[in-house]
Amino acid sequence: MDQNTTPAPTALQNVLARIQAAIPPERIGQPLPQLLAVSKTKPASAVQALIDQGQRHFAENRVQEAQGKFPELQAAYPDLVLHLIGPLQTNKVKEAVALFDAIHSVDREKLARALKAEMDKQDRNLPCFIQVNTGEEPQKAGIAPGELASFIQLCRDLGLTIAGLMCIPPFDEEPAPHFALLRVLAERNGLSQLSMGMSGDFETAVQIGATHVRVGSALFGARD
Ligand SMILES: *Cc1c(COP(=O)(O)O)cnc(C)c1O
Repeated sequence: MDQNTTPAPTALQNVLARIQAAIPPERIGQPLPQLLAVSKTKPASAVQALIDQGQRHFAENRVQEAQGKFPELQAAYPDLVLHLIGPLQTNKVKEAVALFDAIHSVDREKLARALKAEMDKQDRNLPCFIQVNTGEEPQKAGIAPGELASFIQLCRDLGLTIAGLMCIPPFDEEPAPHFALLRVLAERNGLSQLSMGMSGDFETAVQIGATHVRVGSALFGARD
């Protein structure tokens, strides 16, 4: 073997380097943005390959799919952290609270109440992110920016741990203004965590202050 050839960087190393390079100067020294590896549609073997490279935070957007993949991995790697980033129906809350370590898609009162009741029952306290519909798209989940303050108050009154805000910008728009809006909304409401940025725009999100980026295809390859 050629002694002078260094192995090509892995997709994980590439994404981590790109996150690092996007951190704005005023944030250097603060905790690094957390990379969530979005493993939806990918098999447990693909998750295992990233675990072997040191990745510990993963995200799924369906409870049932995650149930088929993660319990064994969680048993083998107690330091795995599993994030739910997709829509959650109240009839899946019990399974979600048992399986996940954080919920990024709290988007309505009924769900907030069901989550709090189930966390009490299971004696678990999962950090929650409120999904904000920054583009005010009628078909998209999330709290409208104008209703956010009162929804946060409701969640706090319930006793949910609100860690921060999450958004998915409209597909056909520049993401930066949406990330900037999410940051302003978080600051205004005393929240420090921002779950924003995907494969196509995570560097922009990091520049604007993302604390959690959700990256799928840039790590695992395109989904079918
Ligand atoms: C699928 C998904 C992602 C990751 O998307 P990529 O473009 O593959 O990085 C991030 N966030 C949410 C909510 C998703 O559903």
